[in-house]
Amino acid sequence: MNENYAKLLENKDIKLTAIRVLVLKIMLNFTQTFSLADLETELVSVDKSTLSRTIRLFHDHRLIHSIDDGSGSIKYSVCSEDCNCSLNDLHVHFYCNYCKKTFCLKNISIPEIELPEEFAVESVNLVVKGCCERCPKIATKLHD
Ligand SMILES: [Zn+2]
Ligand SMILES: [Zn+2]
Ligand SMILES: [Zn+2]
Repeated sequence: MNENYAKLLENKDIKLTAIRVLVLKIMLNFTQTFSLADLETELVSVDKSTLSRTIRLFHDHRLIHSIDDGSGSIKYSVCSEDCNCSLNDLHVHFYCNYCKKTFCLKNISIPEIELPEEFAVESVNLVVKGCCERCPKIATKLHD
């Protein structure tokens, strides 16, 4: 098992350390996106500055991508193995207004957006907001 984590790190040119393997393992345990605070809760034994440094390193090496879902806390998710975080690799994210979770919709790519002349796109952050598959009950209650 640990070999898999090591391979993921090596694929992205990240030097192996015990902490990095541990952090990656916890990141992969999240079924949806996670925030720095989520990681801190899971990894109380690791100090906070090490955690934020590790996140930054993983992000710089494109092992994880970040999502600004407008909630005030940046979310992260581990990239697919073949992701280079280029425009073609980007996918839509979904923020649930009810459980406040942010989902990666990895199979839905960002539609091409036609920009006015002389405007060049460098990144796209497309977050769709609504009700996730698990929350319809709460939603109907609120709207009744
Ligand atoms: Zn990526
Ligand atoms: Zn939800
Ligand atoms: Zn994502």
